[in-house]
Amino acid sequence: MLFSDLGLAPAITRALEETGYTSPTPVQGESIPAALAGSDLLVSAQTGSGKTAAFLLPALQKLTVRSQGSGIGPRVLVLTPTRELAQQVEKNALEYGKNLRWLRTACLVGGASFGFQTRALSRPVDLMVATPGRLMDHMRQGRVDFSRLEMLVLDEADRMLDMGFIEDIETIVAATPAERQTVLFSATLDGNVGRLAQTLTRDPKRIEI
Ligand code: AMP
Repeated sequence: MLFSDLGLAPAITRALEETGYTSPTPVQGESIPAALAGSDLLVSAQTGSGKTAAFLLPALQKLTVRSQGSGIGPRVLVLTPTRELAQQVEKNALEYGKNLRWLRTACLVGGASFGFQTRALSRPVDLMVATPGRLMDHMRQGRVDFSRLEMLVLDEADRMLDMGFIEDIETIVAATPAERQTVLFSATLDGNVGRLAQTLTRDPKRIEI
């Protein structure tokens, strides 16, 4: 299987070739077509499976279509449990999206300067990666506009719950449009993650690799 068989734009598949990826991993082969078709997804995938590209590639593909909404807020929001993971996701997004020259990203994580992040929020952003705590800090200050959000990604949802982010996640999700696409990645899909998924997703496709 090739990335171009999955329905991704040439600007994206070219970046993947340049990165040295020749074919999709199993989780990418299952998740990308389903996400491009617009489904909500519940994906059980481990670190190292290629899960980051499994959600970033359909997210970038969405961004190649002009936004119908007004405002400057993100069209894609990725929530991650840790600062390091958020920074890695943003780095990968810039790599896979390097031929989308207009692509604007923002990374909102704890331990970094508020000033820099606040300036980033005063400009239009396409893809935002954030840890729940720092995103909540900015939301309380009224700095985040989710009116044009099209896609919400929860990466390592089980770890976010283990770290006690459930209330933050619920508050953040409540601020996003109901008609968004939601994709959730987690090592496990049962227990608390399953219950969270039920409240966040609509008729999700379940993918277990
Ligand atoms: P992840 O599971 O997202 O942390 O990815 C694990 C590693 O696999 C990362 O270093 C990626 O750069 C790499 N990777 C992701 N997708 C592919 C692919 N289709 N072919 C080769 N390497 C990949």
